[in-house]
Amino acid sequence: MSFATDSPATNPPATEVPATDAPDAEVPVAAANIGPEATAADARALAEASRELGWDRPSFAKGLYLGNFDLGLIHPWPKAKADDVERGEAFMERLTAYARTMSGRVIEREARIPDEYLQGLAGLGVFGMKIPQEYGGLGLSLVYYGRALALLGSVHPSIGALISAHQSIGVPEPVKVFGTPDQKREYLPRCAAGAITAFLLTEPDVGSDPARMGSTAVPTDDGGSYVLDGVKLWTTNGVIAELVVVMAVVPAHTDADGTGRRGGISAFVVEMDSPASPWRTATRLWGCVGSKTASPASTRSGCPRPTGWAARARA
Ligand SMILES: Cc1cc2nc3c(=O)[nH]c(=O)nc-3n(C[C@H](O)[C@H](O)[C@H](O)COP(=O)(O)OP(=O)(O)OC[C@H]3O[C@@H](n4cnc5c(N)ncnc54)[C@H](O)[C@@H]3O)c2cc1C
Repeated sequence: MSFATDSPATNPPATEVPATDAPDAEVPVAAANIGPEATAADARALAEASRELGWDRPSFAKGLYLGNFDLGLIHPWPKAKADDVERGEAFMERLTAYARTMSGRVIEREARIPDEYLQGLAGLGVFGMKIPQEYGGLGLSLVYYGRALALLGSVHPSIGALISAHQSIGVPEPVKVFGTPDQKREYLPRCAAGAITAFLLTEPDVGSDPARMGSTAVPTDDGGSYVLDGVKLWTTNGVIAELVVVMAVVPAHTDADGTGRRGGISAFVVEMDSPASPWRTATRLWGCVGSKTASPASTRSGCPRPTGWAARARA
């Protein structure tokens, strides 16, 4: 999850507005320079800022590029824990049996995944495959997550798209990795139980280059909320999601208690039954007709302040 904050050129003196949400090493792009006017240099700086900051483990792939790889890093293949394998295999057995009851032809004909399929998958824990067991998920390894997606994709690609968008980029993964304990307790059990989620980064003029992001999240005067405003595009599950992650630019600002915030791109968990959800236009995707991808989606909403979390991720 990338986020950017003030460049040294526009930073106010630290004594005037103490910045608390990111160290100096992570502030290559001023929030004011993110948006439709961002330059190629700003876009590169933002991309560089999202890279790994330190390498505490050796990289096999990096060695490949340098012509000096260490085979010992990937061989012999690590053995999974017996308990993980047992749970994973038992799950795959249940999922395989259920997959045989679903029909890709029905999805093609109806151009949607029937509700009973989604309920069946939720009952098997598919929406929480990677969510830890303490939050109601199955806590499976990536091996079983990948095997399950391959199996579901063989029924129909739309099922794989729905489940992977929900669990790889939707609410569960970023909240699991960056969320506060409260956010984990609030959202992860819901997601594991079958609440469909989505991720909104792309905009009509923003894809590989988030530095040009036009969506904004402006704190309200009372400091209790952010107002999200922008247009999003290509949101897998956007038409049916109950919860979404919205990426938006927070301007540099000062909190009511005088704390200076550098601003930057942050991520917000938004309830889709809130006023934030006027987007409900489905795009028909060739080869993936059951995937409910929203396009374009405009949003303007009040978002409770505690749901903004990405800016704190590395603090
Ligand atoms: C089926 C589908 C589902 C999607 N689901 C989601 C979703 O759930 N949420 C979401 O936020 N987005 C989603 N997207 C959007 C997707 O993430 C973007 O399409 C993607 O980020 C690329 O952006 P773009 O389409 O604007 O292409 P561009 O960024 O304009 O890129 C166009 C081409 O230029 C190349 N290119 C771009 N920059 C460079 C560079 N600096 N150097 C060299 N080559 C470059 C790219 O590789 C590409 O070939 C989805 C897209 C599709 C097709």
